[in-house]
Amino acid sequence: MLQLYMPLNFLGVLYREIKQSLADMEKLFSLLDQNQEIADPVSAKPLMIKHQQGGEIVFNHVDFSYESKRQILFDVDFKIAAGTTTAVVGHSGSGKSTLSRLLFRFYDIQAGTISIDGQDLRQVTQASVRAAIGIVPQDTVLFNDTIEYNIGYGKPGATKEEIVAVAKAAYIHEFIESLPDGYQSMVGERGLKLSGGEKQRVAIARTLLKNPAILIFDEATSALDSRSEQMIQTQLKEIARSRTSLVIAHRLSTIVDAHQILVMDNGRIIERGTHQELLNLQGAYAQMWERQQTGITDNDGNTEDEQLQ
Ligand code: ATP
Repeated sequence: MLQLYMPLNFLGVLYREIKQSLADMEKLFSLLDQNQEIADPVSAKPLMIKHQQGGEIVFNHVDFSYESKRQILFDVDFKIAAGTTTAVVGHSGSGKSTLSRLLFRFYDIQAGTISIDGQDLRQVTQASVRAAIGIVPQDTVLFNDTIEYNIGYGKPGATKEEIVAVAKAAYIHEFIESLPDGYQSMVGERGLKLSGGEKQRVAIARTLLKNPAILIFDEATSALDSRSEQMIQTQLKEIARSRTSLVIAHRLSTIVDAHQILVMDNGRIIERGTHQELLNLQGAYAQMWERQQTGITDNDGNTEDEQLQ
């Protein structure tokens, strides 16, 4: 019995950790599929993306708790029109990442609905939802394999030409070519260590190859050097074009052009609007902006020292 219990227990722990971390989400989908807490209903159909510009996302009066004793989201209600970008900002722990976990349907909600192109996430297959969403995580975990494999993972069977094309679009091609083994260079824990910005560009290339209708961009909390930061911003615009995007932002400078910004506080949306509208409101967002301009804190309210930890 113990022999059976140990591996099952290990899987359980692993599963919880995976759900917690967006970082390596896609890599572990196959494992998740074997061990699901959230089951597809028998009648589940594949999600149909009906808009050419990516799906329309609707959170309709959503309440959510991970554990019954503590509610995390309260009446969260917003719409992301197909093909537009919505950014979420707020203090650490305000519930930003929870929104993306729910969009992947890692958990079911206690009240309200979440839908993509009018289809309730509980009525469609999880595999089809996850196929429609691409994520550029905060901290991309690379496989101990070649850089070509790490990019090509976005689309099984991708050709070398396709891989090079997305690497160029993600501005990482030249860097790869400068390595002694080029696209065959080994990366990851046991290979070449890439910088935060380089890893994020690999993730962008991978996502471009997957070409998802919906994009989640989880901005790195750690400060990047200003050149990497600028590059990532340019690329974000590039990949967000013609798809629906949810950006979890830590630096407000990244999201000034977003079609909509949601400001979260303790699981509630307390302000919403464009950058300019929110500045005019002179509320929480305007204060965050002011603080970031003076360089004292990031939008999570962390000091510069904390950011670097
Ligand atoms: P950060 O900017 O630090 O990433 P966030 O705004 O993304 O924070 P979430 O990760 O969404 O915050 O977490 C919202 C709240 O939910 C936090 O109080 C957190 O402690 C809690 N929480 C997150 N995951 C779990 C879990 N698996 N079980 C219980 N509580 C959780």
